[in-house]
Amino acid sequence: MTRSESEELFTRAKKVIPGGVNSPVRAFGSVHSAPRFIERAEGAYLYDVDQNRYLDFVGSWGPMILGHNREEIRQAVIEAAQKGLSFGAATKAEVEMAELICSLVPSIEMVRMVNSGTEAVMSAIRAARGFTGRNKIIKFAGCYHGHSDAMLVKAGSGVMTSGVPDSAGVPIGCAEDTLTAEYNDLFSVERLFFQHSGEIAAVIIEPVAANMGVVLPKDDFLTGLRDLCTKHGALLIFDEVITGFRLGIGGAQEYYGVTPDLSTFGKIIGAGMPVGAYGGRKDVMELISPSGKVYQAGTLSGNPVAMAAGLSQLRFLKAHLEVYDKLEVLGDRLRNGLREIAARYDAPCTVTGVGSLSCLFFTRQEVVDYQTAKTADTQLFQDYFLWMLERGYYFAPSQFEAIFLSDAHTKEEIDGMLHAAEAFWTNRK
Ligand SMILES: *Cc1c(COP(=O)(O)O)cnc(C)c1O
Repeated sequence: MTRSESEELFTRAKKVIPGGVNSPVRAFGSVHSAPRFIERAEGAYLYDVDQNRYLDFVGSWGPMILGHNREEIRQAVIEAAQKGLSFGAATKAEVEMAELICSLVPSIEMVRMVNSGTEAVMSAIRAARGFTGRNKIIKFAGCYHGHSDAMLVKAGSGVMTSGVPDSAGVPIGCAEDTLTAEYNDLFSVERLFFQHSGEIAAVIIEPVAANMGVVLPKDDFLTGLRDLCTKHGALLIFDEVITGFRLGIGGAQEYYGVTPDLSTFGKIIGAGMPVGAYGGRKDVMELISPSGKVYQAGTLSGNPVAMAAGLSQLRFLKAHLEVYDKLEVLGDRLRNGLREIAARYDAPCTVTGVGSLSCLFFTRQEVVDYQTAKTADTQLFQDYFLWMLERGYYFAPSQFEAIFLSDAHTKEEIDGMLHAAEAFWTNRK
């Protein structure tokens, strides 16, 4: 597999873009390698500038649930673009998008479009603070909610303490109202509610954690959170930027039957265009400007080309709910296959996931939270990742990311991948 063109581009990129990339994980830093520069994508495949083809298990980190460059979506985007790229004024597509989201996700009574998941979370938190008149937010160790100041809080054993920023450039003051609890540990949440009685505006969670690998909520964890929030007058925010329209058309909240007060979306609702959204209870959303006193705005929010892409993808999903059944079957095939291989070679692996989200953790421990996720052997992951990449299988270049499946993947392709994965262990013996 040649990669001279990618290498040359990376050398040029590093001179003019920090780290050579516009988002950190693209740099392949955690696998001590250099990124492949992608030229085009079609269906389940990526093609790089050196004309290598890869079966893609990243799906642009979530948006491409129908696979890449789907005809319907491409046509919708071209049609919208022919009418102009942005008007800075209200459009019909925005109304249709809001109506569609409200009809597909029962907890969403009103919704505001933004340009990224980060923006959606930042705005939902502001809304929760405005609504409750409280400042503190509980998040969970290992959950990612975008890169806004208040959400960049050290994930770890900070249960009893205020937040410590995870990044330079974030003032302590921006993070001190962010409290960290442990995923799947209701007691850690209860304790924070007790310690900060009457101060907690909201609990924010990825209902299926997909940014520390994939960690599923235990039975009753999400309902327990719902009860705690209701009891203490705090809002429950589901960050469904990954799970929204992926676990099912109604997201994780429908899948697990738990109703949050606010939700955030991104990725799939933009179909690859830069889109986010936040929404939920009408009495909270009516506080957003211009109808209320919580300010939030965006020059390009609800952009007509982005709305066309997102609407096209959501409408397709709504009309083809069998996509979710297919993804469930493919996901089970992938997870079972990986588990069988691990058993056959006594490999130190734990496989997690649901539907089209999976993770192969290189640890023997059951993974239920950030602490247990971190027991994974990242050196072994790196060896495995590079082995698979060299054979044309493109996974996220980090142990702590999801394996994404799309409607464009076939069971033959999954089996081919499993074959290559098995060879990795045969080769190590
Ligand atoms: C990707 C992601 C975000 C941030 O979205 P961006 O569009 O990258 O800003 C927020 N929350 C979750 C759960 C995500 O996976």
